[in-house]
Amino acid sequence: MTLRRVTVLGATGSIGTSTLDVLGRHPERYRVHALTAHRSREPLLAQCRRHRPAVAVLDAEEDAAWLRGQLAEAGLATEVRAGREALVEVAEAREVDAVMAAIVGAAGLLPTLAAVKAGKRVLLANKEALVMSGALFMDAVTRHGATLLPIDSEHNAIYQCLPVEHRGGLGRHGVTQLLLTASGGPFRGWSRDALGRVTPDQACDHPNWSMGRKISVDSATLMNKGLELIEACWLFDARPDQVQVVVHPQSVIHSMAAYSDGSVIAQLGNPDMRTPIAYGLAWPERIDAGVEALDLFRVARLDFEPADEAAFPCLRLAREAMAAGGTAPAVLNAANEVAVEAFLAGRLGFTEIDELVARVRDESPVAPAADLETILEADVLARRSAHAWLARQ
Ligand code: NAD
Ligand code: MG
Repeated sequence: MTLRRVTVLGATGSIGTSTLDVLGRHPERYRVHALTAHRSREPLLAQCRRHRPAVAVLDAEEDAAWLRGQLAEAGLATEVRAGREALVEVAEAREVDAVMAAIVGAAGLLPTLAAVKAGKRVLLANKEALVMSGALFMDAVTRHGATLLPIDSEHNAIYQCLPVEHRGGLGRHGVTQLLLTASGGPFRGWSRDALGRVTPDQACDHPNWSMGRKISVDSATLMNKGLELIEACWLFDARPDQVQVVVHPQSVIHSMAAYSDGSVIAQLGNPDMRTPIAYGLAWPERIDAGVEALDLFRVARLDFEPADEAAFPCLRLAREAMAAGGTAPAVLNAANEVAVEAFLAGRLGFTEIDELVARVRDESPVAPAADLETILEADVLARRSAHAWLARQ
């Protein structure tokens, strides 16, 4: 068996930790090349002790110096680097076979794109990177021969439900619709009025999944489903009207593909991200993920309902951004990142998140997303406009 070398970007996060759990179960298949984190130096030290990467990356030189000292004391040979350039280096390094893109938000775009351009197997959890750069990202995958495997559970499910070759438009493969399931988040069924009073801790208390705080808030506003709708359009060459959001509170069906002969193929499993992660790592093979077998008798029933877009306008905002095209999804993403950060810091109400995103959208011109510079500039301008709005409140 050939040993694959893996870089885990965002190793200390929820996806990063689950990835290391799966990798640790298969030492005969995988070696960790690099582990990266933003500021969490202590968790990264513990991961270095356990997984012995060749390289570790932190954002600040001060944290890197601390980690260097600790590793030297422990007698470990891991090289420690700092800064964004180092993230790109460990993503594109010659000895790396696969890169787990699990940084949260726009910060993950450049290293993820670097992995794509280096033709790696790219395990994409960092949906914001694809939402921002859509066509450019997918073109780079084709041009550089990268193998892109979706890790977002819904997209991983759809990938499993589609034919192996599924590019060129859904219709060519007899697929009529992608059914993107959503748990509905912690506030399913709540009125707009009640939503106005929710706290960050309530928003981060997801009924089925345990995740980082940013994606937890996105799940509560349904912006996560909006970003996933855009993600699905790019990954599977789908039009927004070919992606139907289905609220399914049990989170057992992770998504489905509907075919022209009436068949609907679904992927089921316990809500545990180690399943899509193991799938992405081993594809086209299957490996143990440490996930408990699905007990259908315990699940007992599966419910479905439409999403409430009046109470949760983020879903509509995302669909509109995808339809507007160009830099509109990058603007949506940037405004949302600023809004979520402000909400988590107690500076913005929950229902003001979609208000802020809509304001920034209205103030931002849409340009064709011709190159990376244009996209990054749209991101910066949208953040500026969001901060200006926050300052006026
Ligand atoms: P998290 O907040 O738990 O972890 C984020 C990781 O990225 C950490 O290692 C952190 O140190 C690092 N990081 C944060 N900001 C950074 C920056 N500016 N520069 C460099 N590194 C930075 O997040 P998560 O829940 O693991 O989510 C990661 C990504 O995966 C997100 O894009 C999210 O949407 C996606 N995703 C997560 C889940 C889930 O179950 N958690 C499911 C599907 C998709
Ligand atoms: Mg998801």
